[in-house]
Amino acid sequence: MRVSDAMIFERIAILGAGLIGASIALAARASSAARVVALYDRDAEVRSRALALGLGEVCADSASAVAGADLVVLAVPVGAMGSALAACAEALKPGAIVTDVGSVKGAVIEALSAVVPADALLVPGHPIAGTEHSGPEAGFAALFKGRWHILTPLPDERPEYAAAVDRLEAFWRALGAEVERMDAPRHDVVLAVTSHLPHLIAFNIVAMAEDLESVTESEVVKYSASGFRDFTRIAASDPTMWRDVFLNNREAVLEVLGRFSEDLAALQRAIRWGDGDTLYDLFDRARRMRREVIEAGQDTPAPNWGREN
Ligand code: NAP
Repeated sequence: MRVSDAMIFERIAILGAGLIGASIALAARASSAARVVALYDRDAEVRSRALALGLGEVCADSASAVAGADLVVLAVPVGAMGSALAACAEALKPGAIVTDVGSVKGAVIEALSAVVPADALLVPGHPIAGTEHSGPEAGFAALFKGRWHILTPLPDERPEYAAAVDRLEAFWRALGAEVERMDAPRHDVVLAVTSHLPHLIAFNIVAMAEDLESVTESEVVKYSASGFRDFTRIAASDPTMWRDVFLNNREAVLEVLGRFSEDLAALQRAIRWGDGDTLYDLFDRARRMRREVIEAGQDTPAPNWGREN
């Protein structure tokens, strides 16, 4: 079969069949962005679930999955990227495009650059789309629709490299995403502010509430609709994924966390001294940011955040 215009790749291989890997498989098939989707996951049980879900051609090893693939997508935790690519590097088709979906870019680029074959084209990326769920059953084809996908191309002067970046951009657009290009250090700082710190705060608040001896767990759960439950959703995210994010974006997270701690101390002082103006001004600025997020189409203005209860 000829690769049509809509069909951007003849064969893609996805390593890691969790939430993101499964969603890419479903979206690629639904959009005809790839004719054949091959998948590999190191967990045999996940492989059989991926097969039962009809995600694509499920392979018993990563070398078989990447053999003949025009695009290889690494959808494993950030800390496993280097070893996942190393395990199948020799089986890559010459000139294959290799990308990833890792939530951190600097450390992943370092790990992948050390093992990627010289004739492959490494174009790192990160979809700004996800949920707190993991595993192949959590995947859905519409995950990337209307969401940003950030590509962090490398300073690669080969003429075929620029074409590979354009082709990968077309692939993500076919999956419904908006695509932006950015350098890796900038990506890591922006994501430290918009994703990594909010997750750290949520993990901390939820763990703290569990620890508090003066409030019983049942009361925390009973009254959670007053705000706490929104943190519990974020804090339900996969512990392996988030451990790897913080171990691999250490510098940017610590820098943003330093600023956050100073501002929190200022809020603490305002509360202690009854400084209502400072509190009001900050809350007002924060509320305006919420409006901007909704206007940018990144959340719903529906009452109760679109929840039915
Ligand atoms: P997930 O649902 O936990 O799936 C990851 C899968 O990869 C698991 O089945 C895992 O198996 C498998 N795996 C681990 N090491 C492997 C290896 N060496 N070879 C093959 N498979 C391997 O995770 P996810 O949420 O899809 O996240 C995948 C990547 O996407 C991460 O890098 C994350 O930073 C990024 N990301 C996630 C989100 C999100 O919201 N979740 C959003 C954007 C980007 P085991 O369970 O046995 O380890």
